[in-house]
Amino acid sequence: MRADVPAVRQWAADAGGAACGIARAGFVDDAEFAYFEKWLERGMHATMRYMENYREIRRNPQLLLPGAQSVIVVAFPYYHSGQNDGNLGRIAAYAHGDDYHDVVRGRLEQLAVRVRDNFGGETRVCVDTAPLLERYWAVRAGVGFVGRNRLLIVPGAGSYVFIGSVVTTVAFEPDSPCGMECAGCLRCIASCPGGALTAEGLDARRCLSYLTIEHRGDIPEGVDLCGRLYGCDMCQRVCPHNRSLSDTPITEFHPREALRTLTPEKIAAMNQQEFSAIMRRSAIKRTKLAGLQRNALCLLREDDK
Ligand code: SF4
Ligand code: SF4
Repeated sequence: MRADVPAVRQWAADAGGAACGIARAGFVDDAEFAYFEKWLERGMHATMRYMENYREIRRNPQLLLPGAQSVIVVAFPYYHSGQNDGNLGRIAAYAHGDDYHDVVRGRLEQLAVRVRDNFGGETRVCVDTAPLLERYWAVRAGVGFVGRNRLLIVPGAGSYVFIGSVVTTVAFEPDSPCGMECAGCLRCIASCPGGALTAEGLDARRCLSYLTIEHRGDIPEGVDLCGRLYGCDMCQRVCPHNRSLSDTPITEFHPREALRTLTPEKIAAMNQQEFSAIMRRSAIKRTKLAGLQRNALCLLREDDK
């Protein structure tokens, strides 16, 4: 028996999702998984070694939740119209509000409770930290398509979305692919400051998002951060699928005021106590104070040139 899909879509919308779709749980396509493994083999994940782990689980979500039948994928929008203004524009928009891991998890837990209460079964909520190929499942679930910028693009909501999933033992009728594709304008590739969007995929070693957030140690010699303090949205800013978006209704993703006045000079002079206060519940804590100061000092040096 297949469970009622419209109810799930409504619950996803109640949780703040801009789009929701369902895929049948099972093995990831051979071609898709081979592409992922080749990407790892080429070292394009840079120092993010954790991506090499749990390959069998990444390949099959039934190992993540025994008896899994469906993957419910929800896209949560975080776009806001002032996201490129002043100092905010130096920080990737996804990090302007509260940490999405917590916000999305909390909202998906509500959805998971409703699934269990109405259909029984078990659920597992995944938000970026579980070994699940979330973008792949989003496409399978018909939530969107992958652009040349390697991001999920959701019709009507663009690429400024967080992907969250609920893996469940409940069998829902799966959705079809969304039927749209990237406009192929290549603006993302032309505007990428690091030349990171290659035919073989995103090369994290050249991506300013990776370098300013995940990379530890000095910024490699010769890299120009192009004014970026934390992350980089250039391949999203130029994408025509991101035109005419509405501001996110999820207030936790609205920008925190302290970021508007956060200059590289202020960061360079910041102490740990100030950093902890400003970055409470923020994804920016990932770089730690040392990482953010490293980026700020790079920008100040670039300004001096
Ligand atoms: S985030 Fe920036 S550096 Fe990375 S691929 Fe996109 S445009 Fe290029
Ligand atoms: S900028 Fe153009 S090529 Fe790149 S993802 Fe958007 S539509 Fe596709």
